[in-house]
Amino acid sequence: MVFAHDTEASLQAAVDLVNSGEDPDTLTTQEQVDAWYAKHRYTGRRDRDAAELADLRGVRPVLLDLLTADRDRAAGLVNAMLAEANAVPQLVRHGDIDWHLHAVSSDEPLVRRVVVETAMAVSDLVRGDEMARLSVCADDTCGSIVLDLTRNRSRRFCSTTCANRNAVAAYRARNRIQNRPVIS
Ligand SMILES: [Zn+2]
Ligand SMILES: [Zn+2]
Repeated sequence: MVFAHDTEASLQAAVDLVNSGEDPDTLTTQEQVDAWYAKHRYTGRRDRDAAELADLRGVRPVLLDLLTADRDRAAGLVNAMLAEANAVPQLVRHGDIDWHLHAVSSDEPLVRRVVVETAMAVSDLVRGDEMARLSVCADDTCGSIVLDLTRNRSRRFCSTTCANRNAVAAYRARNRIQNRPVIS
């Protein structure tokens, strides 16, 4: 673990939410929201209505902007998001999740909690000068965000699909060069 467990969980949830907007969009049904919510162990209010789904879809560009901002701009965005939500960080412990921070009540709308949790997590990255943990996938055709939580900061692709596609492309390029007819 590189950061606090709730920081890592919040960042991963935000990255997955943003990346769901890559073509084809994978956040169009309540079942898909359920899967995202369960995967990231969200708790608290879940309306399961069209408005909540629309809000989650609509917040993706806002989170994308935050996750790809440089450090100074990210600081300003975090401050604005926390002030807007009247965030008050509180240590809480529930279920089997050990002490972590909530900054708005669990009966606030889901999208509001996602924004605040993401802002809180990014505040850790800003303070630690770790915004470089977030990048855009190194695949030329992919716009997904990569969250690199590896010790040696080696992660460049959003998924094994993108990593494999580029490994194959690199292999083919090497072969082309080696098999080029020798002109002498
Ligand atoms: Zn919690
Ligand atoms: Zn990718």
